[in-house]
Amino acid sequence: MTDQHDYFERFNSPALDEILGRPFPVLDDGFVRVVDYMGNDSSIVQAARVSYGKGTKKVSRDRELIRYLLRHQHTSPFEMCSIKLHIRVPMDCWRQWIRHRTASVNEYSTRYSIAINAAQKTAPDAWRGQSETNHQGSAGFISPEEGRLFSLREEELHKLTRDIYNERIEGGVAREQARKDLPLCTYTEAYWKIDLHNLLHFLKLRMETNAQKEIRDYAITIGHEIVSRWVPVTWEAFNDYIMNSQRFSRLEMEILQCLLKGLPDAAQKKAEEFGWLDRDKTGVLFKRQERFEFEEKLKTMDVQVPWL
Ligand SMILES: Cc1cc2nc3c(=O)[nH]c(=O)nc-3n(C[C@H](O)[C@H](O)[C@H](O)COP(=O)(O)OP(=O)(O)OC[C@H]3O[C@@H](n4cnc5c(N)ncnc54)[C@H](O)[C@@H]3O)c2cc1C
Repeated sequence: MTDQHDYFERFNSPALDEILGRPFPVLDDGFVRVVDYMGNDSSIVQAARVSYGKGTKKVSRDRELIRYLLRHQHTSPFEMCSIKLHIRVPMDCWRQWIRHRTASVNEYSTRYSIAINAAQKTAPDAWRGQSETNHQGSAGFISPEEGRLFSLREEELHKLTRDIYNERIEGGVAREQARKDLPLCTYTEAYWKIDLHNLLHFLKLRMETNAQKEIRDYAITIGHEIVSRWVPVTWEAFNDYIMNSQRFSRLEMEILQCLLKGLPDAAQKKAEEFGWLDRDKTGVLFKRQERFEFEEKLKTMDVQVPWL
């Protein structure tokens, strides 16, 4: 990048050009690949300079400017870059993905075409257990011995539903109706076009550890394989200021202030005041999501949780 950004200059990303069309595998039969894109880190700087004017001393360097914009949520310059991906993804994962409304989408039509003959399979050692702390999440794995039965039954189910689907198609049933009993693990394909600002929002939500593993795998691939090549300066800033940063509530700040002053007892008292350490009749701590989340933040900073 240079200090001079002509208002009409057009930018491309050689590192992204190199991987245009290359499918990055995700899950057992999915992929993500870049079809097309517009702009790069310089386009963000170019757009911002329209607002700030060239030569503003405070934001004179491109990298600093991008980092400043991201830190301060001055997001519109990031909307100047956009990307079009071709993705192959199981329908249950796609159902979460499609909730991100700020993208433009065209999906493979199973009214028009025969449903893709691929269903996501689960290996015996890949069945996850239900999390006790997060009602939406998973924790640990079912033993591979038990998992073997689930995988076997999964295979039977996939075969049965596909056979019934084929039977209907061969019997002349309309594709739009024949598909109704296909499982959610059936793969679909789509073009997904989104600007960089909204893509970063998607990545923030879907790369997080509380996102479901399957969509997380896609988000991590998009982030590490694609965004890092496309807009390396923005990617670095995103990791520094968004992905690997923490936000603290007033309550958490009050406890942290006690801890920073070396007063763990006072910190514990605060947590008691907030009702985070209430116990049942047998003396067992109630499960409090807010407390768990704070404990996780302390652990990532290697800070001893005073009440544990
Ligand atoms: C871990 C996790 C668990 C989830 N669990 C559930 C669940 O149990 N049930 C469920 O239904 N969903 C669930 N979701 C989906 C979630 O509620 C959002 O719908 C999804 O993450 C899309 O986020 P978004 O709306 O911010 O993104 P986008 O739709 O991409 O929107 C980006 C931003 O644009 C703005 N925006 C977009 N559309 C509007 C609008 N119409 N009005 C105002 N502002 C708008 C908002 O600022 C929004 O943040 C979950 C998501 C995650 C990450």
